[in-house]
Amino acid sequence: MKTDLLSITDDEIMDGLSKPDIAIVANLDTDVVPLRYYKHHLWRLDPAVLTKRVTEITSEQYGKLPSPPLNRDYWTLADQQIAEIAMQAAETLVQAKAIQYYLTLQTFAKALAIDMQNIPLYFNFIPKEEMIDGDSMSSFLKVLLELHTPEGRIAYRKITGLKNPWILTKSCPQCGQGDKRILCSKLMGDGKTITVHCKPQEFFFRNEQGNGVTRTGCDHRFSFQVPTSPEALHEFFQQENFSLHFATRELTTILKDSCYTPVGLMATDLGVVTATDGHLHKDAQQVKGYGDHLEMLTSALGLQHFVIGEKIAGSIAARLKRQRVLLPAPVLLFGYRQRTALCDPEVTTAVNKGAVLPVFDTSALKAVERGWSISEMFQRAVRLHAFSLEELYSLKGKSLASLEQSLQQHPPTGNSASCK
Ligand SMILES: [Zn+2]
Repeated sequence: MKTDLLSITDDEIMDGLSKPDIAIVANLDTDVVPLRYYKHHLWRLDPAVLTKRVTEITSEQYGKLPSPPLNRDYWTLADQQIAEIAMQAAETLVQAKAIQYYLTLQTFAKALAIDMQNIPLYFNFIPKEEMIDGDSMSSFLKVLLELHTPEGRIAYRKITGLKNPWILTKSCPQCGQGDKRILCSKLMGDGKTITVHCKPQEFFFRNEQGNGVTRTGCDHRFSFQVPTSPEALHEFFQQENFSLHFATRELTTILKDSCYTPVGLMATDLGVVTATDGHLHKDAQQVKGYGDHLEMLTSALGLQHFVIGEKIAGSIAARLKRQRVLLPAPVLLFGYRQRTALCDPEVTTAVNKGAVLPVFDTSALKAVERGWSISEMFQRAVRLHAFSLEELYSLKGKSLASLEQSLQQHPPTGNSASCK
């Protein structure tokens, strides 16, 4: 594949970019809280919704505060103007973000003389919108039910490496907290009961540069039962402010009856570097909170692999395979095998233990404003590597082969106590 890709000429690349044959699906995660990366100021949000999930935020709750002095390290006036247009046109924050994405991309397309109307661009809002729009016959619901068994829980723990696994949780009913780090959720040994503690400890929400705020939960504890039929689960998704564990959510990408099944997942920076001997290592200098993509994606691809192999949720997986609903292989994961060259030399990391490094989470329009050419940005962005599952697990210090073996054996029983 690499040889084929390298033989493509510049003209062919431009042709493909101008009129793509394959649709682009932009995955918009609606399960994060606005404070998560401390870059939310464009949306002028009601302070009461800062730790609610994006999916819950409607037009009555954004565009409310006076325009804040913009963090010019992160955003440009063009970003602010785009956000204002997006907010006026949208009814929910999710829609506003999709419009922002489209208008920003249009700036780049224009510079390359590309008409955005020729690009088949779709948005996938996950997980809540995808779950509600899918009906109660969706195979994802059946997989989700089979993960919620004592055996499923134990296999999930092995695959993800989570001591206290959780798959499904919901917001704190007392304070509305929706952030998954503050909510300590546990699936109990019966595979059905979920306990949640809205933790009162301080949690940091910060951008890569190191600016941010702390938030705490309200110390409320609650529990609930996972519904036992697809119909009841579908109703639960319609009514509750729920959240899904990342690895579980990504199972939708290997099910043909979900709204999309991509060939590959573009993940850009995984917090990995390549040593001179060609081996991959974790990037020790990566800022904490930005390197967790590797953990999440390893769990997600591992879970896909073991569902397809019928080592977890095995009976439903076998049935879906017979019905040709389940893809025969996990999605390909593409990411950088060294720190991205698409970084911002003007802003450096402040909370890093190691060397001071340029950040890469500032606005792309800022780079344009500073005179970077679009083709230079494009070239800096395309340094992708297709990660194998063996590689991903070995970066965690684990072996895929021994995990395979452990999932063959009769699962042990037991429960655990504390929450990380
Ligand atoms: Zn709470």
